[in-house]
Amino acid sequence: MLVFMLGVMLPAAALILAGVWHLRNIQREQAIEAVLQREYQQLLTIAEKRIDARAYDIAEDYIAKFPKVDQGDDLTAFLTEHPDITHAFLWTGKGHLEIQSQPDRMGDPAFEEEHRNLSSMVGHWFELENHDLFGKLKKIQTMEGRRVYFDANWVQRGDKWQYQSLAIFIPRGSTAEHPALAGFVYDAGYLSNKFFPQALNEVLPNQNTNEQSHPQPVMMVRTMKEHAPLAASVGWDGGSPEVERGFEGVFPGLILGIKLRGTTFANISNHFVRTEYLILAALSLLMGAGMFITYRNVAREFALAKLKSDFVSNVSHELRTPLALIRLYAETLELGRISNPGKRQEYYEIIRKESERLTALINNILDFSRIESGKKEYSFRETDVADLVRSTLESYRFEIEQNGFQFEQKIANDLPQVWVDREAIARSLLNLVNNAVKYSPTEKYLGVNLYRHNGGVKLEVVDHGIGIPAKEQPKIFEKFYRVGDPLVHNTKGSGLGLSLVRHIVQAHGGDVLVESEPGQGSKFIITLPVQTTEAQQGKGMPA
Ligand code: ADP
Repeated sequence: MLVFMLGVMLPAAALILAGVWHLRNIQREQAIEAVLQREYQQLLTIAEKRIDARAYDIAEDYIAKFPKVDQGDDLTAFLTEHPDITHAFLWTGKGHLEIQSQPDRMGDPAFEEEHRNLSSMVGHWFELENHDLFGKLKKIQTMEGRRVYFDANWVQRGDKWQYQSLAIFIPRGSTAEHPALAGFVYDAGYLSNKFFPQALNEVLPNQNTNEQSHPQPVMMVRTMKEHAPLAASVGWDGGSPEVERGFEGVFPGLILGIKLRGTTFANISNHFVRTEYLILAALSLLMGAGMFITYRNVAREFALAKLKSDFVSNVSHELRTPLALIRLYAETLELGRISNPGKRQEYYEIIRKESERLTALINNILDFSRIESGKKEYSFRETDVADLVRSTLESYRFEIEQNGFQFEQKIANDLPQVWVDREAIARSLLNLVNNAVKYSPTEKYLGVNLYRHNGGVKLEVVDHGIGIPAKEQPKIFEKFYRVGDPLVHNTKGSGLGLSLVRHIVQAHGGDVLVESEPGQGSKFIITLPVQTTEAQQGKGMPA
C-alpha cells in the first residue's frame, strides 16, 4: 500500500501542484500579456514598413508629375490636378522660392496664414540647409533607391495642432550647376480620411469580420500630441491601443497603435488561465476517482491474498491433526499391546472418523476448485429429500449425541420429490451440521427441520451456539472468509464450507440464508425450489 501511495499518489499530486504553480507564475508574471505584446509589436513593425512603402509609391507617382525646374509656373496646375496636396514649392537657388497653395482655399485668412508661415519656413530652411538636404537626398537615392525625403509639418488650425506630411525631393531638370529642390505638403484631411484608413485596412492580417472565434486585431494612427485617433481601420471599437509604436520613417510624430476588437490582452490571459484551471480541476477529479478505484481494488486484492494465506495455514492445520491421530492410533494398534477389545474398537473408530474428516475436507477443497474453474458438474435426479436428509444424518447422529448435543430432527410427511444432486446436497447439509457443532461450545443443541414450502422444500439447520454479528452475515458466504472472532479463530476451519453451500444451492436454483444473533445461535435455511422436469433435462444447470 505504501508503494502504491509513493508510486502513484505522489507523482500525481506533484503533477497537479506543478500545474497550479506554473499557472500562478503565468498569472503573476503576466506572461501571456507579454507574449501578445511582443507579437503585436512585431506586427506593428511590419505594418509600418508596408505603410511607408505605400507612401513612397504614391509620392514617386506625384514626383513624376511634378513640374520641371524651368516650369515653376505650372505649380498651380499641379495643385489643381492633385487636390490631396495642399502646398507645393520649388527652390532654384538663393532667393528663388516659388510656393503655391490650393488656389480655391486662398480666400481663407487662416489658410493664407498657413501659406505664409510655410513659405518663410521653407525659405529659411532651404537657404540654410540646402547642402545638407542635397547630401541627404543623394544618400537616400544611392542607399535605398528612393528619391524622396519625408518630414513632419505641424500647423495650427484653431486651437489644434494638425499634422501634415512634407515630401522633399530633387525635381526634374536640377543639375550640378543649377541645383534645385522641390517639395509638397499632403493635406491633413487626405491623410486622416483617405491615406491612413486605406493603408491600415490593407496591412491588417486576415481581416475576416465574420469570424467570431478569434479576436480580430484593429489599428489606429494618432499624433503624438493627441490620444484620439487620426485614422483607424475598419472595426475600430474605441478605447486605447494595447501596443503602440512611433513611426520612424515616413511619418515622424505619428504613432501606430493596435488592439483587439471587443476584448483585451488581460481578458484573453484570464480566459486562458481560467480554462487551464478548469482542465486541471477536471484532471485532478479524474485522477482522484481513478486512484480511489485503484486503491479499493488493491485493498480488495490484499484482503483476498491474506484470506488465501490464512486458508493455506488453516487447511494444513486441519490436515495435520487427523493425520497425526490416525498415525498415533494405527501405530498403537500395530504394536499389538492393546488387549482390551473395547479399547481397540474405540481406536478403530477414531481412525475411521478422522479419515472421514479428511475425506470431507479434501472433497470440499476439490469441489471448491472445480467450482472456481467452472468445471463442476451436477447430476440431478428425482429424489426423496426426506430419505436423503435422514440417511445423511444417521451416520452422524450417534457421534453428535455422544458429543453431548441435544439433537432434534423434524421431517414433514408431505414432501414432494425434488430434482437434486444427492451427493452435493448431502455435502451441503453436512457442512452446515459441522458448523453448528463447531460453533456451539457451550449450548449444545442441533436441530434439523425439513418441510414443504411453496411447492419446494426448506431445510433448516439450527444451533444455539455463538451466533454471527449482523454485519458479518453477508460476508460468511464468501470464499475463505472467517469471522474475526477469537472463538472462531480457535476452531478449525478453511472458510470454504459456506461458500460451497451457496454455490451448490444456487446451482439447484435455490438459495441459502442465515438468521443469527450473537450469543443466541444461528439458523441456516436452504430453499430448494420446485423444478419442472424440463428445467432438469440433461445437465443444463450452471455450476
Ligand atoms: P469455516 O471452515 O471457517 O467454518 P465456513 O465457510 O463454513 O468456514 O464458515 C464461514 C464462517 O462463518 C466461519 O468461520 C464462522 O465464523 C461463521 N459460521 C459458520 N457457521 C456458523 C455457525 N453455525 N455459528 C456461528 N458462526 C458460524
